Amino acid sequence: MKEILVRPERCMGCRSCEIACAVEHSVSRDLFRALSEMPQKRLYVEHVPEYSLAVPILCRHCEDAPCVAVCPTGALTQDALTGVVRHNRDVCIGCWTCASVCTYGVIGRDRRARVAIKCDRCPELDVPACVSACPTRALIYGVVEDLSEARRAASALKLARGVAASR
Ligand code: SF4
Ligand code: SF4
Repeated sequence: MKEILVRPERCMGCRSCEIACAVEHSVSRDLFRALSEMPQKRLYVEHVPEYSLAVPILCRHCEDAPCVAVCPTGALTQDALTGVVRHNRDVCIGCWTCASVCTYGVIGRDRRARVAIKCDRCPELDVPACVSACPTRALIYGVVEDLSEARRAASALKLARGVAASR
């Protein structure tokens, strides 16, 4: 099962992902025409000045997602096959119960319709728009096991280098 995975050490804070997200969720899906629509993004590049870092924060489509569990109208549902948490704006009543339990703070508010908005992982695209737009590959679309394997290999290499240098 693929997820949007974040490699914060690669993020340069350019916000290309945020723009691509907003355009993908606009009516025109065109950068220049979308400007007049003012579409809203569904992921957030948070700047952490203490460490001079930018960190993209987006819906993790959690296992047993708490937002789904607390939604009183069934507006939030989780696909059993893909794990994607989707939002049905037609039955959303804008009560913000989902926002109050989301650890990541990634439930947004559609200012005009007064309903929640969140990442839908771009169901019409093979690769989510934010991932395609990231110039540094800080966002990747892949399986967790592959990311963990790559991280393990990198850690092993660092450790091995240290051991070799101390011989
Ligand atoms: S909106 Fe928040 S709680 Fe719901 S699946 Fe996404 S990260 Fe998890
Ligand atoms: S596009 Fe990539 S590098 Fe730019 S802000 Fe988003 S995650 Fe960071």
